[in-house]
Amino acid sequence: MIDCLCCKILKGEIPAAIIYEDERMIAFKDINPQAPLHALIVPKRHIASLNDLVPEDDALVGEMIRRAAAIAGQHGYADRGFRTVFNTNAEAGQTVFHIHLHLLAGRGLSWPPG
Ligand code: AMP
Ligand code: ZN
Repeated sequence: MIDCLCCKILKGEIPAAIIYEDERMIAFKDINPQAPLHALIVPKRHIASLNDLVPEDDALVGEMIRRAAAIAGQHGYADRGFRTVFNTNAEAGQTVFHIHLHLLAGRGLSWPPG
């Protein structure tokens, strides 16, 4: 997908601090971290938003969530806690239209979110 930040990172056209990669997804550090650990878990296939998911994506999204938990655990946050967020469209603040699961950890995170 031309002009998609995540696709450009996946193709190596934009550098990123990649912390995980397999056949289906990568995870990299957010460039503007909102917590001591702020990573984005990104599928290799371009999917613009959660509105575009199909039933065949169920396993992929489940793996993304399990990967977020694993990364949180590797950084020592399994027990302390962490937050996982998908933003979808304007009112939720989605700015990158290739789905990405935010993983935030390392500080107290208030609820409700802003
Ligand atoms: P969202 O607003 O949910 O679409 O999240 C997009 C996220 O991508 C934001 O948290 C940005 O800080 C992050 N971001 C934007 N550009 C880059 C980049 N080049 N490398 C890593 N993260 C980025
Ligand atoms: Zn993309």
